[in-house]
Amino acid sequence: MQADGRQVRVRVRAIHEPARDVRLFELVPETGAATPYPAGSHLTVMLSDGLARSYSLIGEEPTDGAWWIAVKRVVPSRGGSAAMWALEAGAILTVTEPRSHFDLALGRPDYLLIAGGIGITPLVGMAERLVRLGHRPRLIYAARSRDQMAFIDRLQPLLGDGLTLIVDDEGGSLDLAGEITRLHADGEIYMCGPAGMMAAAQAAWQQAGRLPTRLRFETFGSSGNRPAVPFTVHVRDHGRDVLVPADRSLLDALADEGIELAYDCLRGECGLCVVEVAAPASAIDHRDVFLSAHQKQAGARLCACVSRADGKITIDTGYRPALTRVG
Ligand SMILES: Cc1cc2nc3c(=O)[nH]c(=O)nc-3n(C[C@H](O)[C@H](O)[C@H](O)COP(=O)(O)OP(=O)(O)OC[C@H]3O[C@@H](n4cnc5c(N)ncnc54)[C@H](O)[C@@H]3O)c2cc1C
Repeated sequence: MQADGRQVRVRVRAIHEPARDVRLFELVPETGAATPYPAGSHLTVMLSDGLARSYSLIGEEPTDGAWWIAVKRVVPSRGGSAAMWALEAGAILTVTEPRSHFDLALGRPDYLLIAGGIGITPLVGMAERLVRLGHRPRLIYAARSRDQMAFIDRLQPLLGDGLTLIVDDEGGSLDLAGEITRLHADGEIYMCGPAGMMAAAQAAWQQAGRLPTRLRFETFGSSGNRPAVPFTVHVRDHGRDVLVPADRSLLDALADEGIELAYDCLRGECGLCVVEVAAPASAIDHRDVFLSAHQKQAGARLCACVSRADGKITIDTGYRPALTRVG
């Protein structure tokens, strides 16, 4: 995880549990009040052993001088959420100042916000900002069960009948095509949720003939469709086999072996770390939102930062050894 940006020390002022498996942390900078940030921003917490994890800021602005973040307990975890859940009030942490990759474009005639599970966190502030500017955004909030849904008490009075809850274990289901039809032709969607939900939204958006840039999303990282297991890649252009352990990404495992790929987002969004897959496509568990459903099905490429495989696959990284001119 890259953690650029100015770092500040913060004290954990209080910890709450707004929903099952979700903990809210009030973070107060040691230097004074928390600085404002655009809705959709996140900060990165520097945990021990070089681990860094990002968390979206709750609300349109700091609350009583504190940045609020909410962390879902994740299983299996490489340590981030577990370390956050081990914190007690009074703990001192180092965090980056807030920054955003998920900006709200103002001036659209209509807004639809879609959250899946803990993906609600950046959308609370967006909903608050839009309402304050006089918009009437709709927010669709989907989760497995009602007791896992944080911030309903804050969103209900704000949005009234603009808030729709879709609860899996109560038989709810999300009609993406219908919601897109209801959205003004120049309207925008902002969404954050599991990769499957985002892939479905991208497909429905494309099907409706909407402008790709008007569907904006943030991913928190995907747990994929299958559990993470060790797998082997034959890196054809380097002529080597590399083992990818269950707790390392393909990108990391290649770097461990001196095979460096270009990368940026580390969330399967930007596509910089895409590699060519020679075979077999069926072994791939695509965990990105960069490739289209069609490209995933074709299985000729994968995003090395998040996607995994079962068994053994063959890839090409695009590496070409320098040619030596003879004669
Ligand atoms: C901009 C941004 C904002 C975020 N905001 C929030 C937020 O508000 N609240 C929140 O709870 N989280 C948020 N996250 C996610 C958060 O940063 C952490 O990823 C999360 O807490 C899990 O960390 P972890 O170390 O416990 O789990 P990880 O070990 O990172 O596991 C996360 C998921 O990835 C899967 N996984 C584990 N190992 C691998 C592997 N080797 N290869 C591929 N997949 C693997 C796991 O199955 C698990 O489901 C945000 C992330 C980003 C990038």
